[in-house]
Amino acid sequence: MKAITLLGSTGSIGTQTLDIVENNPDKFRIVGLAAGSNVEMLARQVRQFRPEIVAIGNEAKLAELKAAIADLDYRPIIVAGAQGTIEVASYGDAQSVVTGIVGCAGLLPTIAAIEAGKDIALANKETLIAGGPVVLPLVEKHGVKLLPADSEHSAIFQCLQGVPAGGLRRIILTASGGAFRDLPAEKLASVKVADALKHPNWSMGQKITIDSATLMNKGLEVIEAHYLFGLGYEHIDIVVHPQSIIHSLIEVQDTSVLAQLGWPDMRLPLLYALSWPDRIYTNWEKFDLVKAGDLTFRSPDREKYPCIGLAYAAGEAGGSMPAVLNAANEQAVALFLAEQIQFLDIPSTIERVCDKHRDDFTATPSLDDILNADRWARQMAIELNQQAVAKIF
Ligand code: NAD
Ligand code: MG
Repeated sequence: MKAITLLGSTGSIGTQTLDIVENNPDKFRIVGLAAGSNVEMLARQVRQFRPEIVAIGNEAKLAELKAAIADLDYRPIIVAGAQGTIEVASYGDAQSVVTGIVGCAGLLPTIAAIEAGKDIALANKETLIAGGPVVLPLVEKHGVKLLPADSEHSAIFQCLQGVPAGGLRRIILTASGGAFRDLPAEKLASVKVADALKHPNWSMGQKITIDSATLMNKGLEVIEAHYLFGLGYEHIDIVVHPQSIIHSLIEVQDTSVLAQLGWPDMRLPLLYALSWPDRIYTNWEKFDLVKAGDLTFRSPDREKYPCIGLAYAAGEAGGSMPAVLNAANEQAVALFLAEQIQFLDIPSTIERVCDKHRDDFTATPSLDDILNADRWARQMAIELNQQAVAKIF
């Protein structure tokens, strides 16, 4: 029986993780749950999974949460706010913490979990992209496992089982191509939020769905792959694979290429991040090559999607730059979702914020440097769009 804590329990990753727990009650037990502000769903989850501790990120909703579970026949610890989320992340005998919070908000809770000696099932890629230079040494220091739950990185990790150290030569990340893969580049200027939220293959939270439409998600995943698997950026490639059947590939030293295949279903990488090195039997739909049909591939269009080049450049710069790229992207996506800026303002905002960071760039940032860079980049992304944003601030 593995004890797990789940951060971001009401989101896409969170609810799929709970589906796994629900269907494997003899294998997994929930110690802690943390969510942002969906009290109704969180209260339902507390009733069903009976965690020892529960956090609501939005402090204004604490009383509502307490009232919603007041009739329970046991008393979980109830906490709130950023500090409460950190408390849940580090609490009790949970062996593994699933990070399903979206954005850099996941960084401090993830660090707290690592410092408490817990293994991390990493869905929250922003944590590693912004915090890589401090997170990786902490993982080493505390001897915990950082297990990828992002589907591409899980695929790479699965392919790597049995490959000896030094055997990996190249990583090939597959990309679905996002909502606008078949739209001519000149039409991107006028796309609407609702169009960008229509992902062809995956049902996910809003932020990552917009990242998929700009291809920044793949850019972020290139940086995530660099930190997780240690390859230089010149050895990490992207290929567009519209069917999302091959979840990524590795090339080993003798040019053999290994791939992991399956239906697009996040539960598989989540389960593997929790069960590794074991393989747990599931009754999920079995994969069928004939039913999957044609698998096609093409090069990513870097002119149509400037976020790819921005991410490689920030990754290669390293240090504090990926934190700035990530924060500028988070802020630009939030402005786009609030209909304050246009779709193509997302990459142009990120580019300008990264350019401005060159003066304050730090090659070996501390946690404070990263948190400051994150705050500064968000503010700069707003300032650069001042005319549009003046309406809401
Ligand atoms: P989502 O928006 O569906 O869910 C986010 C969750 O985090 C919600 O439970 C929300 O309440 C909680 N949350 C947000 N801000 C919080 C805060 N400040 N404090 C506490 N809780 C907070 O997002 P998602 O699609 O589940 O994605 C979560 C993470 O997993 C992201 O980093 C994303 O990149 C990554 N990821 C998601 C998928 C997917 O299929 N959804 C795939 C790969 C990676
Ligand atoms: Mg992914």
